[in-house]
Amino acid sequence: MSDLHRLPSIERLLQTDQASRLLAEFGRPLTLDALRAVLADVRQAVQNGADIPETDELFVHINDWLYAATQPTLLPVINATGVILHTNLGRSPLSSEASRAVQQVATGYSSLEYNLESGLRGSREVHAEALLTRLTGAEAALVVNNNAAAVLLALSALAKRRAVVISRTQLVEIGGGFRVPEVMKQSGARLVEVGATNRVHLTDYVTAIEETGPALVLHAHSSNFKIIGFTSEPTLAEVVGASHQHRVPFLDDLGSGALLDTALYGLSHEPTVQESLAAGADLVCFSGDKLLGGPQAGIIIGRKALIQKLKKHPLARAVRADKLCLAALSETLLHYLKNEAVQRIPVWQMIGQTPDHIRQRAQHWQTVLGSGRLVDGLSTVGGGSLPEETLPTTLLVLDAPKPNQVLARLRCGIPPVVARIEADCAAFDPRTVLPEQEEALLQQIKHILQDQTP
Ligand SMILES: *Cc1c(COP(=O)(O)O)cnc(C)c1O
Repeated sequence: MSDLHRLPSIERLLQTDQASRLLAEFGRPLTLDALRAVLADVRQAVQNGADIPETDELFVHINDWLYAATQPTLLPVINATGVILHTNLGRSPLSSEASRAVQQVATGYSSLEYNLESGLRGSREVHAEALLTRLTGAEAALVVNNNAAAVLLALSALAKRRAVVISRTQLVEIGGGFRVPEVMKQSGARLVEVGATNRVHLTDYVTAIEETGPALVLHAHSSNFKIIGFTSEPTLAEVVGASHQHRVPFLDDLGSGALLDTALYGLSHEPTVQESLAAGADLVCFSGDKLLGGPQAGIIIGRKALIQKLKKHPLARAVRADKLCLAALSETLLHYLKNEAVQRIPVWQMIGQTPDHIRQRAQHWQTVLGSGRLVDGLSTVGGGSLPEETLPTTLLVLDAPKPNQVLARLRCGIPPVVARIEADCAAFDPRTVLPEQEEALLQQIKHILQDQTP
């Protein structure tokens, strides 16, 4: 207790050179918070018998406090897991053109809602809409915050207090709390389930449509699971046909929104946006950051009259896409329009990488590190698409002891690396590591290997 008066006051500390430097870097309010917090800790420690620290030592703690308080938690990460659309790692990386567009729109003003020809107010809806309609042949399009919002908006605008028919095979939970039955409830639509968990027949739909006079028939892609065994479902076109016979619009929640055929790359076929429209769906909605390979967004395309109703609904404003999203999405869609998606969009580059090319990259890593084994492995698409589907890959596997500790250390690196355990070893899949991240990845693995050699 008697020693505490020797502890420098905040006023005195503020007059030091160290404090001037911190004030310049972190600003006065935060620096004061740091001084108070550290002095409070020190007072406590001194009361418990610790010595009064030197001023320099105090500033070490103050520095640490300030760095910890200002360290961003949202950091770029190297994804060496081999899961291409890793939901926890931010799903799809943007193409360099898309990220440049974001940068340009972010740092200045833009023509977001301004018509440059007329000099009058314009609409944010035009930017991606023209590209989407050209690409898909749909009459109209609308972009919202994400696909969950797209489904909620569509149901709210078209089916509030009315029946919506959906098969029991499709009452899915996507993850992160998105469950089709719960979204329906939130929208005010009344769920009419047809069929059984494993089988649904066209007659089930027809009976339900005739009995309930629904506002919509909804189809939800069972994105993240597979029903196998004694199963059956009518084709999309058959269900659309039954809906249209009774003048009921058909909404297809496609989830991943592939515009290209995954079957060309050794995967099973993921339903495409074009197929859904060709089957006659009146509205199709999908994510921007799954197989489309763009920013987080919910895209709704289809009949103009229906899209118009969605645009006018009060929820549309609450879930609208922001300028950064629209900038990135437009550039991403342009890649498809220019027939260069597989070359320019990272998730398609990753899907399209040949096993030979991946093996060469893994071999190169092995050479640079002078360590590790090459092992045949499997990459996955992830992101709630193509469940159980894999792509052959070559993993670089480290024989270092305590693989969990290796992974933990890599996660704390700058930039953090996320890898996986394969047969009790730390394993790295080149497929999802962007070429420009390779050097940083190898540098970090090297550090860890060096620390482990006795
Ligand atoms: C992923 C998915 C959603 C949710 O999309 P977000 O863009 O993540 O909001 C909705 N429906 C289906 C079928 C999905 O696969």
